[in-house]
Amino acid sequence: MIEQINAILPQTQCGQCGFKGCLPYAEAINTGAADINQCPPGGDEGIAQLAKLLRVSIKPLNPEFGEHKPKQIAIIIEEDCIGCVKCIAACPVDAILGAAKFMHTVIASECTGCELCVSPCPVDCIEMRVVEPIIETELDFFKTQKYAAAQVARGRYEAKNFRIEKENKDKAERAKQKRLALLGSKPSLAN
Ligand code: SF4
Ligand code: SF4
Ligand code: SF4
Repeated sequence: MIEQINAILPQTQCGQCGFKGCLPYAEAINTGAADINQCPPGGDEGIAQLAKLLRVSIKPLNPEFGEHKPKQIAIIIEEDCIGCVKCIAACPVDAILGAAKFMHTVIASECTGCELCVSPCPVDCIEMRVVEPIIETELDFFKTQKYAAAQVARGRYEAKNFRIEKENKDKAERAKQKRLALLGSKPSLAN
């Protein structure tokens, strides 16, 4: 059931529902800890699908969690970017390209419009822009395409989490080896 609920959620990973991502929200809905109307990106369409799956009544989006907005993507004003990489760290789906001290740019096709990169930018050079209505209409027309885009975002989110977890483990292991090398009880770091 959690998987079915999660498959309905937009995979924007924005946290507006009050949970750290779509999967934790799906888990909370499943246990009854959260209601079906807490996801602004999913909007009325998402609520209707959840209500149908869970056989409960449709209810309006709870405004305490935000409002449903038209599809938007982030744009970096590249000439103002100072290359601090804070936006890369904030992006849950690795949709920003760039290196320290170099200009950054958003991969428009991968951006879910979550807005999580906007506030960490110290020079306010990230703007959210609404996707042209014609494009949104085309996307909405093919609901399978919308679903596919959500699953791509989910994959990128899971891949990023996996990478961060691995980096943290590698870092912890290197620190452990350094400590052991200093104590002289294990082979040195060179091994
Ligand atoms: S897309 Fe919806 S379910 Fe996913 S994190 Fe955002 S508000 Fe929560
Ligand atoms: S680029 Fe910004 S708005 Fe787009 S997915 Fe990444 S954090 Fe969200
Ligand atoms: S947070 Fe802003 S200044 Fe820093 S790299 Fe991203 S876009 Fe550039």
